[in-house]
Amino acid sequence: MPRDYSNIARSPASGPTRARRVVSVDGLDGYTRRFGGGKHIFVVGPDSPQSLEQTLSIARMAKAMAEKLGIVDRVMLRGGAFKPRTSPTDWRGLGMRGIAMLDAAREETGLPYVTEIMDINLVDEISTHADMLQIGTRNAQNFDLLEVAGRAGRPVILKRGFANEAQEWFFAAEYIANQGNLDIVLCERGMKTLFTKGGYCRNQPDLNVIHHAHEKTILPVIFDPSHVSGDHRIVGQNLLASCAHGADGSITETLHMESFRREQLCDAGQALLMDHYTRLVEAVLIFEQQIAPKLSPVGGWD
Ligand code: PEP
Ligand code: MN
Repeated sequence: MPRDYSNIARSPASGPTRARRVVSVDGLDGYTRRFGGGKHIFVVGPDSPQSLEQTLSIARMAKAMAEKLGIVDRVMLRGGAFKPRTSPTDWRGLGMRGIAMLDAAREETGLPYVTEIMDINLVDEISTHADMLQIGTRNAQNFDLLEVAGRAGRPVILKRGFANEAQEWFFAAEYIANQGNLDIVLCERGMKTLFTKGGYCRNQPDLNVIHHAHEKTILPVIFDPSHVSGDHRIVGQNLLASCAHGADGSITETLHMESFRREQLCDAGQALLMDHYTRLVEAVLIFEQQIAPKLSPVGGWD
């Protein structure tokens, strides 16, 4: 067997260059979100569902924003009910109770949601609820989990491991793909580097890799401006930078009201207020229409 990632490669060792993949996520609202369909997909929500009120509030605001801007088919929810935490004494999410809150948010708004999986034994159960599965940076090379996700019958967002080379990330995606699931969205979320030690940058974004992943694989590539920033004041700049680099979408953590920041048990400092997030979405839409066409090389990217 050749040591490659032939299922997801854009130009496999044998055979012609393959078409890019569009990864679709259907909403109860009747709209399909299409990652890689040429328009930025906005995944938004709390780091983690902590209460029903918080989860529903963010979902309602996301829905109202989507309707106001005419982009309902481009907005979906996020929220990690099962949280991988660096310290075992940190709060680790509400588990299935959190999933029930996300279900309620989807039920009310019609917006589909993505949630993180960690335990191979829970993937089937979570897949009966969630519209899309997320594999986080810490599990990016958990090969058993990748294979189980490949058999779960749901599209998957695969974050890049924070110390992974691009090729290791593509091999990780191949573990999902070779189980028969090509509905994979790659997500760059920053790395640990010399520069993350000083504390001004939680994870160092690798923006160049967006272009590289598009060149090497057929998969859509999104960007996570929240975990590269660690600070809500620089999330927007990073989000716009990823658009300039051709990201197919973004996954961003938000807050329903400023007073909740003190109560938020994980990633509070990087959460954007929804009205701030809405302004950024407007900026992305302007970027798409007015600036992106000027950035592409003569003849286009492909
Ligand atoms: C998250 O999305 O909240 C998360 C834990 O992300 P990452 O795996 O990139 O740290
Ligand atoms: Mn988070």
